[in-house]
Formats: sequence, structure tokens, C-alpha cells
Amino acid sequence: MTGGAGFVPSHLIDVLIARGCAVVAVDNFVTGSKENVTHLVDHPQFTLVEADVADGLPTHHPALDGRFDAILHMASPASPKDFTTLPIEILRVGSIATLHLLERAVADGARFLMASTSEAYGDPLVHPQVETYWGNVNPVGIRSVYDEAKRFSEASTMAYHRYRGLDAAIVRIFNTYGPRMRPDDGRAIPTFISQALRGEPITVHGNGAQTRSICYVDDLVRGILLLLDSTETGPINCGDEHEMSMKDLAETIVRLTGSASTVTFTSRTADDPEMRRPDLTLARTKLGFAPTVSPEEGLRRTIEDFQRRAV
Ligand code: NAD
Repeated sequence: MTGGAGFVPSHLIDVLIARGCAVVAVDNFVTGSKENVTHLVDHPQFTLVEADVADGLPTHHPALDGRFDAILHMASPASPKDFTTLPIEILRVGSIATLHLLERAVADGARFLMASTSEAYGDPLVHPQVETYWGNVNPVGIRSVYDEAKRFSEASTMAYHRYRGLDAAIVRIFNTYGPRMRPDDGRAIPTFISQALRGEPITVHGNGAQTRSICYVDDLVRGILLLLDSTETGPINCGDEHEMSMKDLAETIVRLTGSASTVTFTSRTADDPEMRRPDLTLARTKLGFAPTVSPEEGLRRTIEDFQRRAV
């Protein structure tokens, strides 16, 4: 798995290891952290390899010799903050790295699962977003490094599937949150929780009417593994349909933390989508997927994790 020391991938690894799989995580720690997999380092089924996958998988590393049954390409900086601080890294991991990994998957006869994103729909003109919608992406905007790299990865994955016989799967992940998120990664939920725990004002972009559907990480992981275990190629949306305004989200976090923080409003970032909600019909019918963790419960667990880590 690429990006194995990241937020979502580390949760995926936990479940794979619990299932008895052997997992090799390749990560350069650009946004991930060794702490996310510290509990696994002595596990006989787990190996952590430090490398930039845009340079190709390291050769002559014992853990990377042999053949993989599955390759999950999860590596990529993913927070809007990263779009301006790591733009070239995002482009490289969503393009050159993808091509290297596709070649390896074909050589191994492995199932290849690519972590795409709801950002592939850009600022959507269709709501909720269904997989057949082609999106509304500004190809030269601030977010384009991420959106277009993921779209390139999708196109590459489909080309290897169509013309090189690759067993492929594409999951379009919608906003996901949970324990192990970086408090300073710039996404709304970790930002709001950190501000609430410090008693600082909660900074909501714009008037806070823009909506997101938020998915608890355990639900997302279950969806990704249902796709991995299936014969579906997708792309398939995965996330939660429950939609919330940013203002409601901020107020819920203030309530759940018992904080005295006030909610304040700042300027919106460029091309920030107005609304985002997955149409989960495909995931439901093809994979039997349905999220089960309510936002209240998921946020409570995430707040507990932030308190435990004292971040
Ligand atoms: P994350 O930043 O926590 O994890 C990404 C991991 O990839 C990090 O550990 C990072 O160090 C690693 N990485 C990045 N570039 C690399 C490179 N060149 N070589 C090796 N490792 C590299 O982010 P996340 O939120 O866990 O996202 C995981 C995946 O899911 C990403 O591909 C992201 O685009 C996708 N995704 C996430 C969300 C979400 O809401 N969390 C939504 C849509 C898509």
C-alpha cells in the first residue's frame, strides 16, 4: 500500500492486518506520520518502507521483491492546505507514481485499487454527485494540481484496465474524518476540533452555508475493502450521504467539546465547492455498502482521539 502512514491508509492497514494479510506500507512521510503505524512496527505481517513512490518502488528491498496480490495506491497529500504547499509533489504522486505502480500491478497480476476523490467532480453542477457526472473542474485553478492529478490517475487506471488486462478498481472518496487526522492539516474538522479544545474562535470560511457530507473513517475503510474484495472496477463513490453546513458542523463541535469558543467567519478559498454529497446508489447495489456511524458519534470519537493525543 502506498501512503500507508497516512490517516485513511493506516486505518485500512489495521483491518487488513486483523484479517491476516501481510502488508507492506511505502511512505515518504510528506504528510503522514510514523506514529500512525507505531503500534504495528513489530508485527510480523507488517513492513514499513520509507520511499517516494514517484521515484518508483525501491528495487532490491526484500519486502518489495516477490509478487503482490493487491496494490492500493493511497499516497497523496489531500488537504486543501497541501494544494499550495505541496503542488508539485501532489502532481508527481498522482501521475508518475501511478504509472510506476500500474506497471508493477500488471507485472504481478495484482488487483490495483486507486484512491480517487470527490474532487474529481470539481465544483459540481449536479447534486448529489453520481459517478456518471464528468465534473466541473478548473484545470488551471489552485485546486487543479489535486483534481487533475487524480483525474489523470483515473484515466491511467482505466487505460491499463482496458488495454493491459489490469484488474482495477477506482474509489472516489468523499470527505472522511476520524482519529489520527493531523490537527493542523487545514481541513475543517481537525481545525474546528483543535480550535474548540484550545478555546479559540472557530474560523468558518465564508458564511458557513456551504455543505459537505462527512464520513467516519471506519465506514470508509469498510467500503474500500468491499470494493477491493469485489470484481467491480468503478469508479464507485464512497462516503456518507448525510449533508451538513460548515456552520452546523462548527456549532456541533463546540457543543460536543463543551468549549466556550465562538464561531467566526473568514474569507472563502478559491474554487471551494458550494456543496458535495455522494450518490451512493452504486456502492449500495454493487457492494452492499452503507455507512453506519452518525456524525455525532464519529465526531465524539475523533474529539476523544484529539484529547488523548493532546493535540
Ligand atoms: P494523508 O496525507 O494522511 O495520507 C497520505 C499519505 O501518503 C501520507 O502518509 C503521505 O506521507 C503519503 N505520501 C504522499 N506522497 C507520497 C509519495 N510521493 N511517496 C510515498 N508516500 C507519499 O491523507 P488521507 O486523508 O489519509 O488520504 C489518503 C488517500 O485518500 C489520498 O490518496 C487522498 O487523496 C484520498 N482521499 C482522502 C479523502 C479524505 O477525506 N481523507 C478524500 C478523498 C480522497
